[in-house]
Amino acid sequence: MHGLPLLLKAALDLLLPPRCLLCGRFLHGECRALCSDCLKAIKYIRLPVCRCCGAEVSGEANRRQLCGSCLRRPPPFKRAMAVIHYNQPVSQLLHRLKYSGDTTVLPGLAKIIETVQMPEIPQSAIIIFFPTRIKDIRTDLLRRVRDPPPQTSLDGVARRKNLHSAFIVPENNLLRGRSVCLVDDVFTTGTTVAECSKTLLDKGAEEIQVLTFARVTASK
Ligand SMILES: [Zn+2]
Ligand SMILES: [Zn+2]
Repeated sequence: MHGLPLLLKAALDLLLPPRCLLCGRFLHGECRALCSDCLKAIKYIRLPVCRCCGAEVSGEANRRQLCGSCLRRPPPFKRAMAVIHYNQPVSQLLHRLKYSGDTTVLPGLAKIIETVQMPEIPQSAIIIFFPTRIKDIRTDLLRRVRDPPPQTSLDGVARRKNLHSAFIVPENNLLRGRSVCLVDDVFTTGTTVAECSKTLLDKGAEEIQVLTFARVTASK
């Protein structure tokens, strides 16, 4: 049964050889999404990281370590974790998925994630995807009630004000006492996920963990 599809696949590869999603180079190795040079250029988040917001911190690895920002202003979520730094050219893949609905980039994103050890999420946790325009994902547990103006030009205080009451949880009792894993594509300053976390905690969620694919690193 497997012979024919394999043969067809081999014939297709010969006619239409797979190309790297980022640089367009023909692929010959095992990975059918990204070439070895593009994979090598990916900047993964390296330990040690702040145990709360997931930012890289200097010094010895320490599981209890907090960054200055979390010490000054503890976020409402328990922990945030990202896989890579949000940089070109990988950011193109997210952009293509998010704004053009281009799902051909998914094997590339999967390839990047597969080498990373993900944190333990309680089995009973509710996984909530951040309100998104990507179809086929259940997004009704957390709704954006209004589209805020662009965040990029605002400072921290203005960002928080801008996002205040921007999200609602339509089903009131579903979250009571539950652990929630909030999934988003990019962690920027943490303001948006903090606002979402507050809304979820207000509705009875016990604790929030945030998983994102990429993290914007503040320039020093
Ligand atoms: Zn490449
Ligand atoms: Zn932190």
